[in-house]
Amino acid sequence: MASNLGYDDTPVLPGSQYKVHDGNRPQPRVINPGTSSNQEAAGRPSSDATVLFDGSSLTGWASSNDGSAAQWKLEGGFMEVVPGTGNIQTKEQLPDCQLHLEWAAPIEVKGESQGRGNSGVFLMALYEIQVLDCYDNPTYPDGTTAAIYGQFPPLVNACREPGEWQTYDILWEGPRFNGDKLVRPAYVTVLHNGIVVHNHTELIGPTTHRQILQYAPQPPAGPLMLQDHGDLVRYRNIWCRPLKGYDE
Ligand code: MG
Repeated sequence: MASNLGYDDTPVLPGSQYKVHDGNRPQPRVINPGTSSNQEAAGRPSSDATVLFDGSSLTGWASSNDGSAAQWKLEGGFMEVVPGTGNIQTKEQLPDCQLHLEWAAPIEVKGESQGRGNSGVFLMALYEIQVLDCYDNPTYPDGTTAAIYGQFPPLVNACREPGEWQTYDILWEGPRFNGDKLVRPAYVTVLHNGIVVHNHTELIGPTTHRQILQYAPQPPAGPLMLQDHGDLVRYRNIWCRPLKGYDE
């Protein structure tokens, strides 16, 4: 059926059922994109986001050790690591997604290298985007702030000063398996404070300390895990949106 929004005398696009400027192509869903954060307050998530942490409750999170209630400290609009209580993770299983989160390293600067404001954002609880205070704090490059830990340094060091809120915006595509066989590795794009630090980077496998790990079969969705590395790192405003194709 012809549409007065576009053209029907144009060529069909390769790999598509639609023509150039096809007015019958589905319109993008309308969403409200929310608002940006500033140092004083977290912004509002996109209207179609799954909110994982809005600063008011830890009910969506559990201890990674045993699934019991998350023991991190809940304060005015953020959570903070309670050293020794262990990593925490979402009860929600995240598919391939756009993930937004904000974190702050302790204002009190102590320790150096990996000992300063260490935490981590683990996609599928296996693939770490490093959280570390690398403002005037060198460490091994593949372990610096926003590194894909043990694999790829960030393209630049975009750290803000300790105590300031910083953002990670992550596009995550998890690995896919056919039985035991890897058919697609994981890819990640990361923006640190709005700056691209990884651009559709192919992960070697799960991340770890001092070793190289191989992919092992896993489901296409998994929890988001935050690391207790003994430092008083804070998090706020965590949300995600499934990554979908054009016609979904
Ligand atoms: Mg870490």
